[in-house]
Amino acid sequence: MKVMVKAPAKINLSLDVLHKREDGYHEVEMIMTTIDLADRLELTLLDKDEIKIISHNRFVPDDQRNLAYQAAHLLKERYQVKKGVSITIEKTIPVAAGLAGGSSDAAAALRGLNKLWDLGLSLDELAEIGTEIGSDVSFCVYGGTAIATGRGEKIQELPAPPTCWVILAKPFIGVSTADVYRRLDVKQVQHPNTAGMIEAIKTGSYDHVCLNMGNVLEDVTLKMHPEVAQIKDQMKRFGADAVLMSGSGPTVFGLVHHDSRMHRIYNGLRGFCDQVFAVRMLGERHRLD
Ligand code: ATP
Repeated sequence: MKVMVKAPAKINLSLDVLHKREDGYHEVEMIMTTIDLADRLELTLLDKDEIKIISHNRFVPDDQRNLAYQAAHLLKERYQVKKGVSITIEKTIPVAAGLAGGSSDAAAALRGLNKLWDLGLSLDELAEIGTEIGSDVSFCVYGGTAIATGRGEKIQELPAPPTCWVILAKPFIGVSTADVYRRLDVKQVQHPNTAGMIEAIKTGSYDHVCLNMGNVLEDVTLKMHPEVAQIKDQMKRFGADAVLMSGSGPTVFGLVHHDSRMHRIYNGLRGFCDQVFAVRMLGERHRLD
């Protein structure tokens, strides 16, 4: 028996850090949405009690460090599953890019294994298990659009943002999220208008979504990697309506309405950057079938 699952990337339309907590985590307020740039996971039932990861991407670990492995391991322990699984990950989402690729693979593994191992869990239950793997995993279990608070694990659903193109460009560098948070001085940041972004999404105002985009981690990453600022400038120059870095970076995304302008930006950026994508936001939450 086989189950195929899609693991879409996310972007942060806004990302705010409120303060550092006693437990060492940062208290965040992030508006996230899934986009149509996805890894694919093929889960094959094994009679033997083992978890196998197959990935042909040299940046993706094929052992217990893989977040999809950790998802399978957690479910096996918690529900005493005696069967095994072989997980083949077809990677499309750039790695260490601020697009939550690993978290989304873990979330897709949770959704897929729920079916393969016939566990009968709800999305809420899977999301709760996901918090043990990483802060972004619960959002990725649901997908769609949401505001994430706490350390990123508390999810409140939002409607889909207005339709537009999302152009992504990832420079040839990887960024460590932990490193960016370590360098962040919470007292110095300029907070984005999260309430304004929520209102813009709820009223379906594309212009106000563009106006309210903001990410407090951007300045930190930009100082470490000036090439990210260059890509931002180029996207603006080619005509994107709004441009922001996603998560801790280094991927930069731009929003644009018109097909012709999307093509111009996409083609223009291809000259500077080897990983460029033009996709739509997904908007809708995942459903368990
Ligand atoms: P986030 O936006 O949540 O900070 P990211 O997009 O910056 O995440 P990932 O692509 O998730 O970063 O990868 C970060 C690290 O996680 C990688 O360097 C890799 O070693 C490890 N990793 C573990 N499992 C996976 C996976 N399934 N896919 C990609 N990376 C994985």
